[in-house]
Amino acid sequence: MEQLKNYIREDLLDVRPYESARHEFTGTANVWLDANENPLATDYNRYPDPFQSDLKAVISGLKNIPTERLFLGNGSDEVLDLILRLTCQPYKDTVAALDPSYGMYEVLATLNALNYRKIALNERFEWNIDAVKAQLEGVKVFFICRPNNPTGNLFPLDDLRTLLQQFKGVLVVDEAYIDFCPEASAAALVAGFPNLVVVQTLSKAYGMAGLRIGMAIARPEWVAALNAIKPPYNISSLTQQTALELLRSSDWSTIRANIIRERERLEAALKASSKVTKVFPSEANFILFRIPQASAVYNYLTEQGIVVRNRSSQFNCADTLRITVGTAEENTRFINALNNY
Ligand code: PMP
Repeated sequence: MEQLKNYIREDLLDVRPYESARHEFTGTANVWLDANENPLATDYNRYPDPFQSDLKAVISGLKNIPTERLFLGNGSDEVLDLILRLTCQPYKDTVAALDPSYGMYEVLATLNALNYRKIALNERFEWNIDAVKAQLEGVKVFFICRPNNPTGNLFPLDDLRTLLQQFKGVLVVDEAYIDFCPEASAAALVAGFPNLVVVQTLSKAYGMAGLRIGMAIARPEWVAALNAIKPPYNISSLTQQTALELLRSSDWSTIRANIIRERERLEAALKASSKVTKVFPSEANFILFRIPQASAVYNYLTEQGIVVRNRSSQFNCADTLRITVGTAEENTRFINALNNY
């Protein structure tokens, strides 16, 4: 952990992980009497692989990321929480995120007893990188969501490079929606920067939100440090097996292309609507748009059985709704309802 001593909590540098029975012995055997399991021969009487080796191998092939740079969590929300626990001293350290951005960053900061600093984006939800840098003094962890939720825009990789060179804390780049983008993931920068942790998920482009699988992509010393503090069996065997089967059997690039095509259709319909005053460009599977009296529109849509997200209370987001790209039929229902409003 020596390479991480500037980034992780001093008292966790030499933490001894809990040694489960499956850590101690990983070879083949016929008689397993080491983990206090029930000998019933069901599919689930044994504890799962704590390091999810088979699942990691498939993700590694799919994303072209070496397995030693992959850490898996129970959704990326767990990964984000573990990163804060590993790096920040409760009641002392400060974390920062852009505003508006994903709401969990602030919740996780509160749960980990950390100060939370918001760094404002402009009205088009872009940043001025020098202004961002100026606000990072004393910040231990800085969350950047790219593409950003709820705005849908992507912060340039070149800006991330500049930040990584100058920022003394840890940059967590949350790429929950990156698989919808043609642009490169920040995962390509991981090898060169010890202060970068990229977070991705199987919940969005891989359609497995119900399974709860998120990942950190970082240098192997980060993976070891996160493994040392995670709950030993954080991903169930049913989840690991199901995800493996889905990853191997589905045509993810076609599914993704369909979602992007539908996003483009939704975007065109929103732009054509006389009621919509602004459609924010999106690289994700959702679109933020501005419409006068957004809350009334929200209520009207729910009366039609259509639920979108009202983001009007977010910073710089007055009168905005965020719509997730659904099936062609769902999107058409939304477009018709909007046109009849
Ligand atoms: N990051 C962002 C930006 C998100 O929008 C979400 C889900 N809403 C998550 C992380 C969490 O995703 P999960 O826990 O399903 O991997």
